Amino acid sequence: MSRHHPKDTTLADFAAGTLDEGRSLVIATHLALCGQCRGFVAALEDVGGAMLEQIAPVALSDGASARVLDRLAPRSLAPKAPTAPKIWAADRDELLGYRLGPWRWVSPGLHYRAVDVPAAKDSRVFMLKAAPGLKLPSHLHTGTELTCVLAGAFIHEGGRYGAGDCDDADHDDAHSPVIDAGEECVCLVAMQGQIKFTSILGRMIQPFIRL
Ligand SMILES: [Zn+2]
Repeated sequence: MSRHHPKDTTLADFAAGTLDEGRSLVIATHLALCGQCRGFVAALEDVGGAMLEQIAPVALSDGASARVLDRLAPRSLAPKAPTAPKIWAADRDELLGYRLGPWRWVSPGLHYRAVDVPAAKDSRVFMLKAAPGLKLPSHLHTGTELTCVLAGAFIHEGGRYGAGDCDDADHDDAHSPVIDAGEECVCLVAMQGQIKFTSILGRMIQPFIRL
């Protein structure tokens, strides 16, 4: 069961259809693994387009999802029990219908593969696979970055992120992730904006990303 979820504002953008396709793929992946967020998005979608336009300008604060679910609890929109479907496996070359490129070596213990999201103009979508215990260089975030863990786990200042967990990070979140011991970690990542790679990791990944 997921312990780290996307921001309510990100889920609201997803429900409203205003989230870019790359970030939407990461959210859809998390939703496939998280009954709580499925319930929240279903509730938002149920509000309907007209209502959504009225409430969209109101900034959703942390905890908004819990309040919405509280209000809707008596109805049928309560979150379904998490079923944790197997949406990705190491031998598959697609994720939710999106084609995955080949794994490419980045540095010892670190591999990268592109995710083909043609409409992701403003974001780069890729997977990272990191060896158990690997320490990633700090300052991974050079722009807004949305990550969903598919296998294994990493740990950083925000806590431990295991399979299904989502890290919805802003550019000012400086993290020094360490891969959990025991199992390699596979993540799906969407980086938004024109990315200036200034970090060591960024410079290592840059040759693989079409800019
Ligand atoms: Zn969630």
